[in-house]
Amino acid sequence: MNIILLGPPGAGKGTQARYLVEERGMVQLSTGDMLREAKDSGTQMGKVVADVMARGALVTDEIVIGLIREKLETVQASGFIFDGFPRTLAQADALADLLAAEGQKLDAVIEMRVDDAALVARITARSTCGACGEVYNDQTKPIPADGTCSSCGATAFKRRADDNEASLKTRLMEYYKQTSPLIGYYYAKGLLSRVDGLGDIGAVQAEMRAVLDGVAPKAHGAAQGIEPVA
Ligand code: AMP
Repeated sequence: MNIILLGPPGAGKGTQARYLVEERGMVQLSTGDMLREAKDSGTQMGKVVADVMARGALVTDEIVIGLIREKLETVQASGFIFDGFPRTLAQADALADLLAAEGQKLDAVIEMRVDDAALVARITARSTCGACGEVYNDQTKPIPADGTCSSCGATAFKRRADDNEASLKTRLMEYYKQTSPLIGYYYAKGLLSRVDGLGDIGAVQAEMRAVLDGVAPKAHGAAQGIEPVA
């Protein structure tokens, strides 16, 4: 099963993708993570995108489509979670073509809805474990008092350079201008479902399970040991 998590920055796409990886053995493809990796390792492409990312603008379609193409051609998976991709209609069209070329298709698009005020609060309070990427929030899920990650025990945490109010304003604007038209695009294709991204992490997770169990054949959930949602 291949799915897209669609939503503004801070909607919780990365957090939910991590649960789906654990629960269903799917592979997360986050273009944001791939670009940050390129930036941190100082590749030519990383240098080109660093400034664009710091401002919160969108990297070119050509670059991100190239990143996804490479993954789809080289990674074997029972299902992909596209996190932060596609962000434009051109990327959405390209994804359909890339999946078709691999004999695959998109099964569901889940829109995570969160209001703007909550996004600002979430993003400016966000940090992640430097080793495993577990996401923390100063208010709702603080780093444990002993300073070790609850998921992997590491002790180094980081904040994203673009998690500040100025960059977030641009990121939100880009979302509404370039990415939100994808909601109508996927609705028209009969692929769109919505979850309330404002609830606590467990409640969002339960909503996601319910959506995906409705998409996947029941046997899939049973084989993976996933409990049905009451
Ligand atoms: P994210 O981690 O998904 O919030 O992405 C961080 C930044 O990487 C974005 O603000 C963009 O600058 C860039 N980026 C990530 N994915 C894409 C994409 N699909 N298209 C264009 N730019 C992207």
